Amino acid sequence: MKILSIIGTKGTGKTTLVTKLIKGLTNKGYKIGTIKHAHGRFDFPSKDTGRHRKAGAKIVIGAGKETFFLSPKEKNIKWIISTIPIIEEIDFLIIEGFKKMEFANISTSIENEFTIKKVDPFSLTDEEFNKLLQLIEKRTYGLLLGLNCGKCGFESCKEFAQAKIRGDADDINCKSQFKKAMLRINGNPIPLNPFVQKIMSKTIKGMVESLQREETEINKIEIIIK
Ligand code: SF4
Repeated sequence: MKILSIIGTKGTGKTTLVTKLIKGLTNKGYKIGTIKHAHGRFDFPSKDTGRHRKAGAKIVIGAGKETFFLSPKEKNIKWIISTIPIIEEIDFLIIEGFKKMEFANISTSIENEFTIKKVDPFSLTDEEFNKLLQLIEKRTYGLLLGLNCGKCGFESCKEFAQAKIRGDADDINCKSQFKKAMLRINGNPIPLNPFVQKIMSKTIKGMVESLQREETEINKIEIIIK
């Protein structure tokens, strides 16, 4: 899952750009997820869930053909991002906001060292937009956890990220990505190399297989330790 952040000051067309990108990347066959950074609270006053919250519920869940959770607590963005692959397999995660994070970004106003390109969403031609999609495909990367293993040919994850932003690095099979096992401590994902992931996965699977249970096939095991 690659991550793209859309940054810019208020009123410069961030949401306009996000919606265009969702459509553009979906048309290319990618599965897209989004996160919107909100400074205030989410408001659903006319919905039943909004009434539940107003009445004092600490967590509100809308469950049906779709599911959503409304939690009153701010969650660590890395916890949110690392939770997404557990819920849904997607190709690109587009984040509106979070300009201080080290994700590749498209800016609608002020640029920073992780900016791939600055654009004016209101005047993008079709040709410019198609080129932008190609840049996004080539220059974005996933959640880097700082394992700094050097296996991608760069000394650190940050060096790899900066080379990717410049267009000087290809997609890599980052050794710290979640493949077999994920470990989070206090909500923060811990980088695990493939060897450690394999040991954890095989050890826990072996333990679970010896337990009596109804399911015969194991697809995913979840363990939470407090
Ligand atoms: S392979 Fe991944 S974890 Fe290792 S240095 Fe490169 S980006 Fe960082």
